[in-house]
Amino acid sequence: MKILIGKEANEFLEKLNLNVAYYETARNLEEATKKLSRFSFPMVLKLISKDALHKTEIGGVKVVKTKEGFEEAFENLREAAKIGKIKFEEVLLQEFVEGLELIVGLKKDTTFGHVVMLGLGGIYVEALHDVSFRVCPINEKDASEMINDLKAKEVILSKRKKFDVERLKKVLVKLSKIPQKMKDIAELDINPLMLSEEGTKAVDVRIIFD
Ligand code: ADP
Ligand code: MG
Repeated sequence: MKILIGKEANEFLEKLNLNVAYYETARNLEEATKKLSRFSFPMVLKLISKDALHKTEIGGVKVVKTKEGFEEAFENLREAAKIGKIKFEEVLLQEFVEGLELIVGLKKDTTFGHVVMLGLGGIYVEALHDVSFRVCPINEKDASEMINDLKAKEVILSKRKKFDVERLKKVLVKLSKIPQKMKDIAELDINPLMLSEEGTKAVDVRIIFD
């Protein structure tokens, strides 16, 4: 089994021309400080480690509102790592992305083979249990149906917000074609994928191979 997170997972998506939130990585405060000028505020710092796949739970996600708050947030991550006995190896610096939080991904089902998944993300995931699946690969019409399956379709297709639904469909189609070339992909999770008027951006990515 192999697992990709952080930079490696982002690079995997970038190679497929799937948009990810702008990011840099750093191993220590000095490196991070040097790269800080490439970001505006707010920005986000994340502790990336295979020992901590749920970053929020261990205090591994910090929104940095101002330049002045940066060092303290970085130290907080180091502290969180120490408390959680997590190896401090990679910090992800990431742009703050506005949008509707969605979950998209792939799973290998024992009956159906690879399936592609779409759901509403963020705080609604567990509360609403609103997800839609299709067997891979899918076309854009299937992707439309997946959106229409959701209780949240009214939100995604909202006339007021004008989310880039065409782009979302393209992301689903593209993801659904990955297993054709990579049969050993067991799981791909983008949670959240931020959907806005401008398109989509993957904010948190995890990929597992058999
Ligand atoms: P984890 O799922 O491991 O706890 P995430 O990277 O998904 O960590 O971050 C947790 C939550 O924080 C996300 O679901 C999202 O609500 C918010 N968040 C994380 N990164 C960003 C970002 N770059 N821009 C906006 N919100 C973010
Ligand atoms: Mg997440």
